[in-house]
Amino acid sequence: MRVLAVGVATLDIVDLVERYPPEDAEVRALARAERRGGNAANTLAVLAQLGHEARWAGTVADDADARRLLERAAREGIDTTARVTHRDGCTPVSHVIASRATSSRTIVHYRQLPELEAADFARVPLQGVDWVHFEGRNVPALGAMLERVRDFGTRCSLEVEKPRDGIEALFPLPDVLLCARHYALARGHATAADLLAALPRRASQLLCCAWGADGAWAVGEDGALHHSPSFPPPSIADTVGAGDAFNAGFLDGVLRGFTLPAALRHACVVAGAKCGTEGFAGVGALLPGGAAVCRLEDLDDPGSRGLQVRLRDGETPCFVVRVGTVVHAYRNACPHTGAPLEWRPHQFLDGSGELVQCALHGALFARDTGQCLHGPCAGRALTPVPVDVHDGWVRVGDG
Ligand code: ADP
Repeated sequence: MRVLAVGVATLDIVDLVERYPPEDAEVRALARAERRGGNAANTLAVLAQLGHEARWAGTVADDADARRLLERAAREGIDTTARVTHRDGCTPVSHVIASRATSSRTIVHYRQLPELEAADFARVPLQGVDWVHFEGRNVPALGAMLERVRDFGTRCSLEVEKPRDGIEALFPLPDVLLCARHYALARGHATAADLLAALPRRASQLLCCAWGADGAWAVGEDGALHHSPSFPPPSIADTVGAGDAFNAGFLDGVLRGFTLPAALRHACVVAGAKCGTEGFAGVGALLPGGAAVCRLEDLDDPGSRGLQVRLRDGETPCFVVRVGTVVHAYRNACPHTGAPLEWRPHQFLDGSGELVQCALHGALFARDTGQCLHGPCAGRALTPVPVDVHDGWVRVGDG
């Protein structure tokens, strides 16, 4: 799927120290890394590894650092052709002190570059874009950008990392609001649950707040609070940008049709993988092959759910069917024409719930074998997709 993200691109200079130094001290760094920073760009780098087409819109300077950042973005699979170049600024730089003792990171940021304005964004094509993700900055321009995306009928998300004047007025606009712990604490909320309880929520909107090693919390359509624990890697390598990887995992889950608890869990799995590797380049390789797409209890019995998963041979629309404690999964393609089967979102079973039904011409299939029992493709069968139920989670994929 195609994701456009709007944000800043910075040069991050990350110094790893044993512990954060007292003021006026001089300490030696254990390691130094230079990276392309910017929250939305980080999120895109992970989304590209999760199989999405990643596009970035923002401003860049006309200097050597900017050219290096753009080359790096290209290597990460991020299309930056929607950028606006300013000749009278310089590339923003973040100096990051990462403490090995506490896993905290302290950032000093310098920027002298105008941000993307609403008029710039109005020229960015939205045709074919499945999702637009915004960094919560440049508040005066963001309102018009979010409105444009909504009017266009494209779903969108807003990342709120820290308080900014007037940003709360934007909260009703995105489909997904991703608040960071830093924002919650700065607004006086001691826990993610406190913040989420205090935020007004538009119907169908998803609100989410990550909380470091404690995992993350989210509220969705049913108004219930969901929690996922974190998934720590065997050893922590680098937590800088864990929140950006979390956001990528959450959006990946939502785009693929996971339930809210599964998208939240997936986000923590992706963020945990990111904590196990330096930077973002190796996150995808650390992920398990199959993803938990929903809990067994979230499916009606009998019931079904449509999804998009990434199998070894590519992106695959598919669906799961629950019968008691057993779940079957098939590609969402009728063997007759290849057309998708559902007649309403997530509705793959016939009126009785006994058979899978093709909405196009009524072919009927056995739930457990996928064999066509009636219709023009009689004798043929749906293509199965690997699925299992583990710890109450339905996992789909060929890991
Ligand atoms: P940010 O980068 O915005 O400070 P957080 O620290 O809240 O982000 O982390 C985001 C997600 O990353 C958490 O929900 C968790 O899943 C994962 N994470 C962060 N730190 C750790 C850790 N030490 N161990 C395991 N997972 C972590």
